[in-house]
Parts: sequence; C-alpha cells; structure tokens
Amino acid sequence: MDKIVYLDNAATTRISKRAIDAMMPFLTEDYGNPSSLYSLGQKSKVALENARKTVAEVLGSRPDEVYFTGSGTESINWAIKSAIKLKQDKGKHIISSNIEHPAVKNTLKYLGDNGYDITYLESDKHGQISLDALRSSLRSDTVLISVMTANNEIGTILPIAEIGKLAREREVLFHTDAVQAVGHIPTDVNELNVDLLSFSGHKLGGIKGVGALYVKKGLLLQPLIHGGGQERGKRSGTENIPGIVSLAAALEDAVGHMPLREVTRLRDKLISGVLKIPRTHLTGDPINRLPGIASFVFECIEGESLLLLLNQHGICASSGSACSSDSLDPSHVLLALGLSHETAHGSLRLSLSVDNTDEDIDFTLEKLPGIVEKLRMMSPLWNG
Ligand SMILES: *Cc1c(COP(=O)(O)O)cnc(C)c1O
Repeated sequence: MDKIVYLDNAATTRISKRAIDAMMPFLTEDYGNPSSLYSLGQKSKVALENARKTVAEVLGSRPDEVYFTGSGTESINWAIKSAIKLKQDKGKHIISSNIEHPAVKNTLKYLGDNGYDITYLESDKHGQISLDALRSSLRSDTVLISVMTANNEIGTILPIAEIGKLAREREVLFHTDAVQAVGHIPTDVNELNVDLLSFSGHKLGGIKGVGALYVKKGLLLQPLIHGGGQERGKRSGTENIPGIVSLAAALEDAVGHMPLREVTRLRDKLISGVLKIPRTHLTGDPINRLPGIASFVFECIEGESLLLLLNQHGICASSGSACSSDSLDPSHVLLALGLSHETAHGSLRLSLSVDNTDEDIDFTLEKLPGIVEKLRMMSPLWNG
C-alpha cells in the first residue's frame, strides 16, 4: 500500500515536527534525571518546568496547577478518585453523562461497584446534556460532576462553562475530560469554570504515554501514585521528560493553528459529500462540534466491514470507539443518541488534522460511496 489517508486523528495523531525536534535532545544526550543536582540533570529539570509553563499559558492557569502524568486515562483516574476523597464527609453521589469515554465510564463503574451512587445524565440526539436535568439531579450529597468537554466519537462540544458555573454555585467539584478539546478548541480553565481538567499528549501531536492534569489551586488532591515524590509529591515516578517536552511543544504548535478554519472547511466538505450517500446520517451536534470530527451512521452497514474496505484503499478511520472495537456491542455513545443497535453498528468516524488536504477528502469521497453500495448489496437487511 503506497498512500495513507489518515483520518483517525481522534484515535491518535502523527507526532508534530516541532514536538520531535524539541524532544530529540532528551532521547539522546540530555538524558539526566531531573531530580539530580548536577548540570546534566538540571537540564532536564529546566525542560520540565518550561513545559509546565507552556501548558499553563495555554490553559490560562498557574504553572503550579499543572501536573504531568502517564496518560489521559491516568489523569482522569487520579482526578475522579482523589476528588471524591476530598469530599467524603459530604457524601457519595457523582453526576456524569452517558457519553463519556471508557476512561471516565469505567472509573465511575468501579466506584459504583464500591458504594458510590452515580447519576448518568441522558444526552439528546445530538449528544448534548440538559442543564435543567443537571440542576435537578444535584443533591446535598453530590460531591463531583464529571462531564467531557468534547466527545471523541461524535465530536459534540458540551456546555462546560455553564456546567462549571452551576457546580460552583452548588459547591460541587467539577472535572472535565478535555482530551479531545485541548489543542483543538479554546480550553481556558477560568472561562470553563473547572476545578480539574484532564488531557493527553498523543491526541494533539505529542507522543503516547504522557498526560496532564490541571488542579485548581487550593484543591489538596491526594496522589494516586505513591513513590519518590516527583511532581511536588503528587505523582511519583521519574518524569517522562521526552514525553512531557513533546506534549508542550505539540501543544504550542496546535494552538498556533487555532482556530482550525482549514480543518473545519475540510470537515464540512467531507460531511456534505458523505451525506449525499442515501440513508446516511450525521451523528453528533451539527453546530457545536469539534473542527476535526465528521461522524456518520449508514443504514444496513457493518462498520467493521467498512473499515476493512477503506483500509484496502489506504484510508484509516474508526467505527464506534477504538477502545471497544474488539467487542461486538455497538458503542454506548451511539446508543445514547437514541439510535437502534442495528444503525449504531453502521458507524464511521473520520477525524482530521492540519495535515489533511483537499486531495485526502476528494479521494475518500471518491471511494466511500462505492464501498457502501457494495456492502449494502451483500446485506440481507438492504432493500434498496
Ligand atoms: C483518548 C482519550 C482518552 C484517553 O487518553 P489516553 O492518553 O489514551 O489514556 C480519554 N478521553 C478521551 C475523550 C479520549 O479521546
């Protein structure tokens, strides 16, 4: 296969050139441990603190409100599991949505199995949750709200600032999984009214295996990982300096491209082209959606077969969520939108980055209709 058309940037991204350049010295000659006192170690320490400053600038936070972790998933686990401990005297009720990423969903399931009471707000057909429903589900024993900034499967952007305002009024802690948002749309923590915000390096042009958590000043979060006391005693383990440096450099690069007008233009071109295929529907919010996510369901189509045929043309895409692609259950997110199991099985997510071109979109729009038609001709459900 010669040409790759990479349309799976919500699963992971190519590492940005700027990130590779920034990281390279720390993979080669500057290998010192940032906790060491000699100059070689201090070079790593300086790079670590510069990365923290860069992240803080983008988030509109103070550097000492930023902690580096081993992944978006780790940040989420830490935020949720430690926030509820801070408020354990108040109660054991948590509010979330029914379209969260498995990192949040399964952390909450674990807590639900361990004595916590979780309310999952139901989303509407666009993946939006209602602020009124949120207001009426708040209780005197509610300790935490965790709602994602933007959804990874359907691209819907949620009203985080409004949710945060409500959380503040009711003195409930608020965490947001911003993994799909940071570096893609504005994520100023003061505008969003959040106490805790998680994100990940590899969804914005950094390397895999590095994440970050914003913790609002004054919130004395206990560590999830104990050990040598790195990250001011909050997250032990020798810091992944190349990863952290890549995250910060990629983030600087990503915000330099914002607002992603060109990506949005290509997304909309893709959406209007794909919707010309009969019995095809856009999933997610038609307006409040991430610049890079075009997501669909095709009636009478099996998403996995679609991916295999796209792959024969070098087109990389996703169906449902990558994390659940080895199970036959349709995505919980698509079911939450009110789609039937059958329709939810026929989903396709095409996610773009600044590297994509008109050529990529034209090629995809040239191949996709034929593939869909071919699969439908073989489907017992299809009746033209
Ligand atoms: C990818 C993703 C995560 C997990 O991040 P990792 O760094 O891969 O652990 C969490 N939430 C959302 C919305 C994601 O897209």
